[in-house]
Amino acid sequence: MTDGRDILPGRLAEHDGQAPIQVLYIGGYGRSGSTVVDIALGQFPGVFGAGEMGNLQRHVWANNEYCACGAQVRDCELWSVIVERWLEGEPPGTMERYKRLSERFEALRNPLQLLGAMTWTRSFREYARLTRSLFAAIRQTANCRVIVDSSKSPSRAIALSRTPGVDLSLLHLMRDGRGVAWSMMKSLEVDPSAGVQRSVGGAPALRTTHRWIAFNILAEFAASRLGKKRSTRLRYEDFTADPVAALQPVLAMIGVSPAASDTPDLAEIVADHQVAGSRIRMGGALRISRDASWETKMPERDRLQVQRRAGWMLNRYGYL
Ligand SMILES: [Zn+2]
Repeated sequence: MTDGRDILPGRLAEHDGQAPIQVLYIGGYGRSGSTVVDIALGQFPGVFGAGEMGNLQRHVWANNEYCACGAQVRDCELWSVIVERWLEGEPPGTMERYKRLSERFEALRNPLQLLGAMTWTRSFREYARLTRSLFAAIRQTANCRVIVDSSKSPSRAIALSRTPGVDLSLLHLMRDGRGVAWSMMKSLEVDPSAGVQRSVGGAPALRTTHRWIAFNILAEFAASRLGKKRSTRLRYEDFTADPVAALQPVLAMIGVSPAASDTPDLAEIVADHQVAGSRIRMGGALRISRDASWETKMPERDRLQVQRRAGWMLNRYGYL
């Protein structure tokens, strides 16, 4: 949490050791509440909500975008130290090189991922080494036991599951595809300090439906790779109805069992240093509530289109 976070001094190598780094990955499709779940998990002792970490090397650092603490990332008291420690001893241009490696090994359409063949390559080993050392720098600097990475992309989950030294658990987060499609139909204009880096939305319902199906299938594939002890599924609607109860299986999976006195009630949650994610992270304290506007505002034609195309999956997740 923001209050009282101690940024530990010292060099990374002196504290890192070889212990596996525990990472909880939130996978699924966009507009499913992953940033809110990330922030909520970060309220628990020993858990650091890092936000959509996969975007750090893609554009957040290069564009000096805003962290949830309100500072631009290069001025953020936490991320500036993390990145400095991570890159210590690495050659110039490592951030750019890591960006290219990430784009390659976290690509949705990289068939080598599904086959597992990519781990044989030298460049994957370099991707994995840098990924692990970045997580190590986070663990040390944020002084946490578990890092939450809410990047969502299931292909990144698969890449992380093959990264030595990373102890990965997966939270497959989903939301009713009709709500997701409606959310994607609405547009957001660029407003960097409010956490909107580029204009988004305005997507036709059918396009979102196809992507929603594909991402959820891939998230299930990633979950099957990790097994039942390392993966769990959560519906956004169940989370917003009773956040504390809904997070219990997730906390049990990552071995977080705070004493009753340390258990946050989640009535009001505060963002920490989520480095990227939805704009909701920029607004200070927030109350968890369900956005059900699609039920009354979504045009029937679009709603039916989603149901026709994705009915089987809506049914599978208990939405129909
Ligand atoms: Zn920050």
